[in-house]
Parts: sequence; C-alpha cells; structure tokens
Amino acid sequence: MLEVKNIHKKFADADVLHGISFTVRRGEVLVIIGPSGSGKSTMLRCLNRLEEIDKGSVQVRGEYLAKEVDGSTVYAEGDELRHILGSMGMVFQQFNLFPHMTVLENLLEAPMQVKKMKREEILPVAEELLRKVGLYDKKDSYPARLSGGQQQRVAIARALAMNPAIMLFDEPTSALDPELTGEVLKTMRELAAEHMTMVVVTHEMAFAREVANRVIFMADGNIVEQGTPEELFGAPKEERTKAFLNNML
Ligand code: ATP
Ligand code: MG
Repeated sequence: MLEVKNIHKKFADADVLHGISFTVRRGEVLVIIGPSGSGKSTMLRCLNRLEEIDKGSVQVRGEYLAKEVDGSTVYAEGDELRHILGSMGMVFQQFNLFPHMTVLENLLEAPMQVKKMKREEILPVAEELLRKVGLYDKKDSYPARLSGGQQQRVAIARALAMNPAIMLFDEPTSALDPELTGEVLKTMRELAAEHMTMVVVTHEMAFAREVANRVIFMADGNIVEQGTPEELFGAPKEERTKAFLNNML
C-alpha cells in the first residue's frame, strides 16, 4: 500500500532524514514514536509532498509519488500526482478547520472543489461521516463553537470525506486537554477496526500498544528500531529505545 525507500531530507541548515525505509500493508496501522526533533513530522510530510525529498522513493498503491532517476528525484505530475495525493488523508496536531465554514461545509469543501463532486453526491457521505464521529448534531456549527476534541473529530471526518486509502496522523491529540484525547483516540480505534490503513505519529503509548500492527522508533532522522508492539514495548533491543520508553512512563 505504501512503500518508502531510503528517503533523505535536508533543510538549509539541517540534515533531518538520513535514509528512512518502511512498508505499510493494506489495513495495517503503523505507529511512529520518537523524541521531539527526530524527524517524525518531516517524514510524514514527505509522504504526501508537503515536503519534497532529496533522495529515495515513495510509492503509494503501486504508483510512484517520487522516485530516483539518475541520482535526482522525479515526482509524479498532473493527474497521476492528483490521484496519489487524493488517496491520502492527513490530520494535524492543530486541527486546521476552515474557521469561516460550518462543520458540514468543512466536509463538503474538498470533495466539491478538488474532486468536482456534486453537492447532492457528497452530502449523504458527509452526513454519514458526521454521524460516525458522533457530531451530526453539530453540522451547522462553526468550528470555534466546538471543543478541541470535537474539532479534531471533524478534521478526521473531513479527511475521510475524500475517501482516502491511507490516513496520516501527526500527533492528533497533542494539542488537546487530557480529558478530550479519549474521544479522538476512540474515533481512531474505530477506523483501525474497520481496517483503514493508517500511519500515526503519537506519544500515546497505550494507544500504540493496543492499535498498532507495527511500531517504528525514530531518533535523529533514523529508524532505530521497529517491530510489533509486543517486541518494541515488551522487549526493546536498542539502548536508545529503552531510554526513550523509560522516559515516557
Ligand atoms: P516533534 O515531536 O517535536 O513534533 P518531530 O520528530 O516531528 O518533532 P520534525 O518537526 O520533523 O521533528 O523536525 C525535525 C528537525 O527538522 C528539527 O530539527 C526541525 O527543527 C527541523 N525542521 C523541520 N521543519 C523545518 C523547516 N521547514 N526548515 C528547517 N528546519 C526544519
Ligand atoms: Mg512533529
């Protein structure tokens, strides 16, 4: 479903990713953990071209988003690029809802503008998604009137309205008060139970343990260790992993 090979990323003053490779199969939940500044967000942003990679390849459902040709990176273009990017939904730490639109309009916007779907076509889908995240009764509210947890559930529903094959989450609960994280994690658990393919950057270790099929521990732009939750949390091999996990408890 998602195949990442040897990706490198530099910013002007910083070498951030030093050759990251992993595969996510259909229906799998991959959780990425690691200290602040280790490159988790950058890595995630490279998967949907919010950042461009310097080296390596990203393949989504058999199509190359980016590949190396004669030492330089070549990106998909035109319809192919749109198709690949359209197959990935992303949810950020800051919910990034459109503040001047109601909850329902937030869900309708991208399918209508990007996919050119008709309002009557996407409306039932959007309403069903709002029911699914428990916010149908808020459909005519503006984001500012919702709690952080509710806003994040709208952000998830909005990403799902594009009917993505893969969902990317970057610390979706980190901006929330502790009592609101549960409702967002519950929505994510339900998605996982429906076999949505997910890549999740999170500090929620209990969630990772319970929901992940595989866990990657990143530090300083490298994958230090990866394995099943049982392996990584139960019997970490690397000292850096052990130190990080000890700190989290
Ligand atoms: P956190 O857990 O705090 O979110 P992270 O693992 O997501 O951290 P990144 O945000 O990917 O880490 O950042 C990795 C490194 O890249 C950091 O040193 C950061 O300062 C640097 N970096 C990220 N974005 C940029 C940018 N646009 N320009 C320059 N440097 C950047
Ligand atoms: Mg980050």
